Amino acid sequence: MTEPADAAVRRAIPPVICYPTDTLPAPDMGLYARAREGMDKTGEVLVPPREARCFHVPAGHFFRIVSVEGPQVGDLNLWSARDLSERFYSGKTRALHGTHLTTGERMWSSFPHLRPMATITDDTLGWYGIDAFGGSVHDVIGTRCDPYTHRLLSGGDYHHCCHSNLTRALAAETGLALSEAELHVHDVLNVFMCTGFTRDTGQYFMKASPVRPGDHLEFFAEIDLLGALSACPGGDCGAEHSSDAAPCHPLLVETYRPAPGALDGWSPPARNGYPRSHGA
Ligand SMILES: [Zn+2]
Repeated sequence: MTEPADAAVRRAIPPVICYPTDTLPAPDMGLYARAREGMDKTGEVLVPPREARCFHVPAGHFFRIVSVEGPQVGDLNLWSARDLSERFYSGKTRALHGTHLTTGERMWSSFPHLRPMATITDDTLGWYGIDAFGGSVHDVIGTRCDPYTHRLLSGGDYHHCCHSNLTRALAAETGLALSEAELHVHDVLNVFMCTGFTRDTGQYFMKASPVRPGDHLEFFAEIDLLGALSACPGGDCGAEHSSDAAPCHPLLVETYRPAPGALDGWSPPARNGYPRSHGA
């Protein structure tokens, strides 16, 4: 294919940010800091390797995903505890905050709700930044490992992909049939996963996670949440997923009640105000 004469000029046009975030309502990180000082642990859920577990977090409480035993990636789904149709919207979160999330950034919910579900309040991997390969941690670019893509690429059936783990966990938690629960499973936040896009081919890559036991990612629940976390069969995702080959470790979910009185006057964010008339 021949290039047009002005190809270099067209390529040299500087990019503009699609969604400048200066008008995005900013989280009150000072308020969250006061609420997490003196917060009390209310419970924990251990997610076994190659399995998923559900957990509940009331609005105004915190939850942490903690690395225990060894480097392990977690695939996180979030729903409104009152309405499963309101769920984490990975794509719009990516459009607003970029490919990887850290402290001060938020997990946004699906249309027509589009409001913060959770705000990241602490990230012990915040030091990692963007490495020389363009990789970073906690991405919203991967979808989740799943048996359909695995069958497409490898031909076999593997039942402990994150998609299936999340489906079984949600079915067990809600009493929904597997076939119903599956439809509520959605694109994840890849907790602790180190990923990026190759500069030459633009392909999605992963590399061994820098997470170590004791690291955590902490969230403030903006609304009443039902969460599900899968301990990915890829382990630290340094080699392969969708098999039993990688060493895998459990992940711990801890929940915390805020310091008494620290959130006085705070209330969960309202649903998006667009009237849904769509110009009709
Ligand atoms: Zn996975």
